[in-house]
Amino acid sequence: MSKVLVAPGKYIQGAGELKNLGEHIINYGKKALVIVSKNGKERLKSSLEEIDQTAVELRFELFCGECTVEEVKRLTEIVKEENCEVIVGIGGGKILDTGKAIAHYLKKPVILCPTTASTNAPCSPVSVLYTTEGKFAEYLSLPMNPNLILVDTEEIVKAPIRLSVAGMGEVLATYYEGKARKNGMTEAAYAMAEQGYKILIEEGVKARIALEEGVCTKAVDKVIEANTLLSGMGFVSDETSGAHAIYNGFTMLDDSRKSYHGEKLAFSTIVWLVLENAPEEEIGEVVEFCLEVGLPVTLSDLGMKRITDEKIEMIAEAAKGDNEALGAGTKDIVAAIKAADGIGRYFKG
Ligand SMILES: [Zn+2]
Repeated sequence: MSKVLVAPGKYIQGAGELKNLGEHIINYGKKALVIVSKNGKERLKSSLEEIDQTAVELRFELFCGECTVEEVKRLTEIVKEENCEVIVGIGGGKILDTGKAIAHYLKKPVILCPTTASTNAPCSPVSVLYTTEGKFAEYLSLPMNPNLILVDTEEIVKAPIRLSVAGMGEVLATYYEGKARKNGMTEAAYAMAEQGYKILIEEGVKARIALEEGVCTKAVDKVIEANTLLSGMGFVSDETSGAHAIYNGFTMLDDSRKSYHGEKLAFSTIVWLVLENAPEEEIGEVVEFCLEVGLPVTLSDLGMKRITDEKIEMIAEAAKGDNEALGAGTKDIVAAIKAADGIGRYFKG
C-alpha cells in the first residue's frame, strides 16, 4: 500500500500577515479574484485596505454563504469572464473550500487566508460541497493542496473564541483517525497528527484562557498551527470513515446546524472511540479535555435536547454510509452514540 503526504506549497503564519497578500499574489499572477463574505470584508477592512495593489489587481466578490455546486459555478464564470489568474479565499472553511474547488476546476493557483482556526479546511486536499439547504452533498477530492496558506494570527484572535475551540475538535478527530490508520500513513503525516494532539493537551486550556483575554500568546500561536496546519497535513481520512463519518451522520439533522464542524467532530470522536471500544483512560482523557476547553460531550451540548430514537437511527444510518467504511452496523452505531452521550453526562457529574 502506498503512503501519501499532501502538503500546501507554502504556509505562512504570523501577526499582520494579511496585509502582505499583494506581494504574495504577484508570484502567481497579476489579477486575482478575492472571495470574502460581506461581514468578513467589513471586519477585515483595515487589513484589506493596507494590501499593496500597485502590481496586482484585486477583484473582490462577495460569497453567498454556502459552498454549493451553484456557488462554485457562479464564481468560476467570473474568473473566466474577468481573466483572473489567481483565486484567493479569505474567511472560514466554506469560503476556503469554494476557493479550492474553483482553482481545481480551472487549474489555477489558489491562496487561502483563513480568518478562523476552526477547521483543517485550509490544508486538506478536499472541498466539501453542500446543498443549498446547508446539508452535506459531496466531497471533492483534490489532486493537490493550495499554493499558499496565509494565516494572520491577529485576525484569528479577533474571531469568536468558540471557533478556535471548535478547531481543536478537528485536531482530535485527525489524531484518532490517524492512529487507526497508522500503517497506511507516512511517518511525516502521522507525526503531524500526533503533534497536533500533543499541543492540544499541553496548550489547549492555556490558549483558550488567553483567547478570552483577546491576546495571542505562544500557546495560542501553537494551537492555531495545530488546528490549521498539523490537522490538515495529518489528515488521511477520505472523510467517509472514522469520526468524520459519524459527523456526516449528524449533519442530517437540522438541529446539528447549531454547532460547528469541529464541535460535532469532538463528540463524533468520542462516539467513534466508544464504537472501537477504546480503553477507558483514552476516552476519559478526551472527554476531560473537551470539558476543559468547552467542546461538546453530550447530545444536549450539541444543541440536540429532545432527540428521539428515530433521529439517532437516522444519524447512524447516514454515518454508516454506502461503503460501510466504519465497519459497523446501524445498531452498533446507535449504541455508541447513546453510550457516548451517557459517558459525557457521567463526566459532567
Ligand atoms: Zn474536518
